[in-house]
Amino acid sequence: MSGEFGDLPTGVIAQPDPVILPRADRLFATRASRLRHLSEGHPMADWLRFMAGLADAQHDAVAAVVAPAVAILPHTPPLDGPAHPRDPSWRRALARILVEPADPALPDQTRQVMAALRDRDPEPLAAAWLAGVVPATEAGPAMFVAAALQVYFAAVAATLPVGDIALLAQRGLCPVCGSAPVAGVITGAGKAPGTRYLHCGLCATAWNHVRVACIGCGESKSLTLQEIEGGNGAVMAETCDACMGYAKMLYQAKDMQVDPMADDLASLGLDILVGEAGWSRLAANPLVLAG
Ligand SMILES: [Zn+2]
Ligand SMILES: [Zn+2]
Repeated sequence: MSGEFGDLPTGVIAQPDPVILPRADRLFATRASRLRHLSEGHPMADWLRFMAGLADAQHDAVAAVVAPAVAILPHTPPLDGPAHPRDPSWRRALARILVEPADPALPDQTRQVMAALRDRDPEPLAAAWLAGVVPATEAGPAMFVAAALQVYFAAVAATLPVGDIALLAQRGLCPVCGSAPVAGVITGAGKAPGTRYLHCGLCATAWNHVRVACIGCGESKSLTLQEIEGGNGAVMAETCDACMGYAKMLYQAKDMQVDPMADDLASLGLDILVGEAGWSRLAANPLVLAG
């Protein structure tokens, strides 16, 4: 019953699926190839290639996750990030991510961060990250812990019965884990083209959200779309003058290959543009939380 991003149009405009769970078997591999594509000729090419390598490691780490049985209760995200009792296998996912890549371009500082994290108990940092209270001095190791938690939560979310998951009253939050979205995607194909889905930055679940309302405050009168000069319309910042927040929206009609995490990372210039103009980002990218 679940729809999928990139389903071919059927010729019939149907009701959009309210919730689309991630495909953990290909989520990170697709992201890695998108990041490599976006890195070509990009001013931050080295960093995007590093993030592509991290996504490769995340793809490898999916197999390490053992999904626990999860109870689905009304009005509660079943994998509520901070409260969910994580299966210890998430640490095996982290261990796979911390296997040092052969990449000679990897900075020594990053090697040291990875080595230090291999030698410590990651649970306190995971708890701090999920609670949104990572100190700035922990930004380096927190990125790897966040990457492992993304793997774990996506792998567990993928096992849930999608028909039992209801949207939350707070439509701006993920119905599976309660996290904020990293970006929205306006579909260009599938059952209901032109539908907006918000994409969870933690478990990679997508959920339907009306297009005419700010995802931060719900206001509809003060929304504007902005982009980098010369952009192709695929990545836009939706700014709201009611709450002075913004979120990125990706338009499949302009580029079917958009990936919420990858295209967000590759468009930090847009964050600088709208940030300098006075809007604040509604939710950070989980991998650049404190960076
Ligand atoms: Zn989620
Ligand atoms: Zn708003």
